[in-house]
Amino acid sequence: MNKHAIAVIPGDGIGQEVVPEALKVLETAAQIHGGIAFEWTTFPWGCEYYLQHETMMPSDGIETLKSFEQIFLGAVGMPGLVPDHISLGGLLLKIRQELEQSINVRPAKLLCGMKSPLADPQSFDILVVRENSEGEYSDVGGRVHNGPDEMALQTSVFTRKACARVMEYALSVAQRRRRHVTSATKSNGLAHSMPFWDDVFRDVSQAYPDIQTTSMHIDALAALFVMKPHVLDVVVASNLFGDILSDIGGAIMGSIGIAPAANLNVERKYPSMFEPVHGSAPDIAGKGIANPIGQIWTAKMMLDFLGYEDIASVVLYGIEETLVENVKTADLGGSATMTEVTERVIAHMKAAA
Ligand code: ATP
Ligand code: MG
Repeated sequence: MNKHAIAVIPGDGIGQEVVPEALKVLETAAQIHGGIAFEWTTFPWGCEYYLQHETMMPSDGIETLKSFEQIFLGAVGMPGLVPDHISLGGLLLKIRQELEQSINVRPAKLLCGMKSPLADPQSFDILVVRENSEGEYSDVGGRVHNGPDEMALQTSVFTRKACARVMEYALSVAQRRRRHVTSATKSNGLAHSMPFWDDVFRDVSQAYPDIQTTSMHIDALAALFVMKPHVLDVVVASNLFGDILSDIGGAIMGSIGIAPAANLNVERKYPSMFEPVHGSAPDIAGKGIANPIGQIWTAKMMLDFLGYEDIASVVLYGIEETLVENVKTADLGGSATMTEVTERVIAHMKAAA
């Protein structure tokens, strides 16, 4: 029996509702597999914790998390009550940085049973791999001068190490997919950072002769996501470009309520963190109507990362069969409750086993 110690942080709003649903699915996956045992340890960190303790997590929180294999997170945020820089900065960003989760992975796939907002969508299956630690979102810069000459400088930081790491990850996952990696660039506008990014991509690609590589300017690539997403396989991008592309990817899938994500420490020195794209959705929290699919698909990504790709695909099968039979929550135009959706996903997984 392979035991896995997982830290669970449900967080705020619908995070507290959808996380237990996804844990039921993971328990079902473990049962079907027969050789996996999960040990869940739940931490009540987030904005409610902040309102009581004036901190989003205890001061030894990061050290505590280091003793787990992976982190499974719902959502954090209480708009209006806790400012974003506290809720995000005090938990999510802190974990991502201190546990060196430098790669953000977001699938954009048209699931069976989903309707894309694109007019004539062919099925598509893209994996956006985003550099998550540096690039355009660095803290280097500032404001200079006053009055009419005032200006702001924002410096991007691109290191060969971080660029190569995210590119190597993208190229190696492409080997288990359709063997094509598209790199997002803008070397015709950003004179220093992007030619460097392109050089590193060319260098790193040498070691993957079996992978077809393409570099595309971010503007043309964003248009391609909307016009012909089916031609794309793996897309590797810097922090800013990856942020934008993964949001477009989420949009063309049909609903933010289904979009999954992972923040990976690919060296496996520290735990990685699996959290859906959506936030705490205070407008629908506590009503039992949140779509659990984003969290469940995120659980599937955790299974993949733990090396259980076969059982992970059974989870995705359960999700798709549920969508095909039209058991959908309100965000997808249906009238099913959150638990009804989870129950159908589990029933389909069991039927397939
Ligand atoms: P954050 O700043 O934490 O990312 P946000 O304000 O960007 O949050 P969300 O909390 O994701 O956004 O909510 C955006 C909209 O999508 C809301 O109307 C919310 O109800 C809806 N939504 C988000 N997640 C889900 C879900 N799982 N099921 C149904 N609706 C959802
Ligand atoms: Mg948001």
